Amino acid sequence: SMDAIGHHIQQYARSRGGHPALIDEQGTLDWRSLVDQVNRFANRLREAGLRPGESVAVLSGNSRDDVALYLGTLMAGGCMVPLSGMASTEALAMMAADCQARFLFVSGQQRELFGALRARLTDLPAERIISLAGALDGAGYALIDWLAQTTATVRSEPVTLDDPFNIIYSSGTTGTPKGILHDYRFRQRQMLRMSRYGLDGDAINLVSTPLYSNTTLVSVLPTLYHGGTLVLMAKFDAHRFLELAEAHRVTHAMLVPVQYQRILAQPDFDRFDLSSFKLKLCTSAPLRSAVIADAMARWPGNLREVYGLTEGGISTSLDCAAHPDKWDSVGVPTQGAEVRVIGEDGGELPRGATGEIVGRAISMMRGYVNRPEQTREMLWTSPEGEVFYRSGDMGRIDEDGFIYILDRRKDMIISGGFNIYPVDLEKVLLAHPALADATVIGIPSDQWGETPLGLVVVRPGQAASETAILEWANRQLGKTQRLAAIEFRASLPRSAIGKVLKRELRAPYWAGN
Ligand code: ATP
Repeated sequence: SMDAIGHHIQQYARSRGGHPALIDEQGTLDWRSLVDQVNRFANRLREAGLRPGESVAVLSGNSRDDVALYLGTLMAGGCMVPLSGMASTEALAMMAADCQARFLFVSGQQRELFGALRARLTDLPAERIISLAGALDGAGYALIDWLAQTTATVRSEPVTLDDPFNIIYSSGTTGTPKGILHDYRFRQRQMLRMSRYGLDGDAINLVSTPLYSNTTLVSVLPTLYHGGTLVLMAKFDAHRFLELAEAHRVTHAMLVPVQYQRILAQPDFDRFDLSSFKLKLCTSAPLRSAVIADAMARWPGNLREVYGLTEGGISTSLDCAAHPDKWDSVGVPTQGAEVRVIGEDGGELPRGATGEIVGRAISMMRGYVNRPEQTREMLWTSPEGEVFYRSGDMGRIDEDGFIYILDRRKDMIISGGFNIYPVDLEKVLLAHPALADATVIGIPSDQWGETPLGLVVVRPGQAASETAILEWANRQLGKTQRLAAIEFRASLPRSAIGKVLKRELRAPYWAGN
C-alpha cells in the first residue's frame, strides 16, 4: 500500500485551501474545492459499483471536470482511461470495450457522440454513460444530477505500485489504437522526478494540449501532485495563450513544435510580459533549430526539448540554454535511462551509425492491453541480457552522447536503395520564406520504387510556383534526396497533438499498389 495521488492531494485542502488549483474560462477553483470535487467523484463512483482496478473512461473536453474525474477515479482505486474526442465513434467503442470500461463520461461538447455511443455500447448500461454537460433533454444522466447524491467524505482505496493507474490509447498515427497500460510505479516516479524541472507546488502550468494525451499528463500530474496550479485552455489559440500566460504569471508550459511556431508568429508577441516563465517544454515531434533560436531570443525562461514514447522506456532531454551547439539533437538520456542504436538485423551499431533507437529507463509501461504479441514485438534484448524498448524511430548518437532523431522508421523513404529521411527535406522546405507548412511523403515510382513528394502550404498573401520551390529545395539537398515533385495544399491534416497524419496523406497515392 502507498500514498497514491488521490490521497496525497487531500493535504492541500487544508495546507493551501485557498490557493488556486485550476484556472479556466469559468474562473478559479481553489484547492479546497478541487479536493472536495475529487472526493465526490470517488465516492459516487464507488457507490455506483466501481471496484478497484476497473476502468473509468473519460471522453475529454479539457475541462475542470475531466481533471476532477481523473483524480476521483484514482481516489476510488480505479484506472483512468482518457479518450480522444477526435476519435470516431467506432474507434471509441472499440477502446471502451478493450479496456472494459465500467463508466464512460462524455464531455459537454460531444453531444452527438454521446448519443451515438449510447446506441453503440450495448454492454455498458445506459446509466453508466454520463454526460459532463448540464441538462440533457432526458437523453441521460447529467453530471450534476449524478453527483448530487453523494458526499465529499474522504475514503481512499489502498493501492500498490503494481496497480493500474491509467490506460492511454496511442493516437493511431501509425495504425490501430493500442491501449498503453501504466501502473503506479511508472506515474509515481514521473510525478516525483518532474519536480526537478520546477513542476512543483510553485508551478503555474498553462495547459493547452489535450488532456487525454500522455504529452499533457506528463506535466499535469506532477503539477497536481505537488499542489501547484493548472491554467487550462479548452482549445489552443496562440493569442489567447499569450494573454493567459501574462495574466496568470505562468511559469511552465509543455507545448508541441507547431504551437511554438504559432505563438512566436503572433505580430504582438513582444508586447506580452512573459517574464514569469521558468521553463518551457517541447515534445512529440522534431523541433527545428530555427524555432529554438527564436524562442531562446524572445521568450524568457529556458527551453527543454524532450523525446520519448507514451510506452515509456526511452527518454532523453535537451537543455537548450546549456547546449546551443546541440539544438539539432534531442539531448541526452534522462537520469537512469540508456539509449542504443540497432541495425536491420537487430545487432547493435557503433557510435555515429544510423539505425533504430532502442532504450531502457526506470519508467516503462506494463504492456499493451490485450496484446501480448505486440508487447513482445516492442522489446529488444541486449547481448548482456537487458531488456530495451524499440522506438520505431531512426536515429544516431554523436561522440558526446547526444541523440539525433531522423524520422520514424515507417516514414522513411527507400528510393533506389537509398534511405531518405523526410525530416531532412521538410527542414529545407520549411525554411522557404513563402511556405507556412510542409511535409514530405514517399509515393510509388516505377524507376526508384519510392520517391519523395513535398506537400506544401503557401503563406497567405504569398505566391510561389512548383518549379521555383522544387529547384530552390533541390539545390540544397543531396543528390539521392531530391524531391520528385511539389503539390500545394490549403492545410495539412494533423492529429490533436499536432503531428502530421502522414498515413492519411500517403494512402491515396498507394491505393492499388
Ligand atoms: P502512434 O504511435 O500511434 O503514432 P503517437 O504518435 O501519439 O501514436 P507517442 O508515443 O505520443 O505516439 O509518440 C512517440 C513518437 O513521437 C516517437 O516515437 C517519435 O517519433 C516522436 N517524438 C516524440 N518526441 C520527439 C522529439 N522531441 N523529436 C522528434 N520526434 C519526437
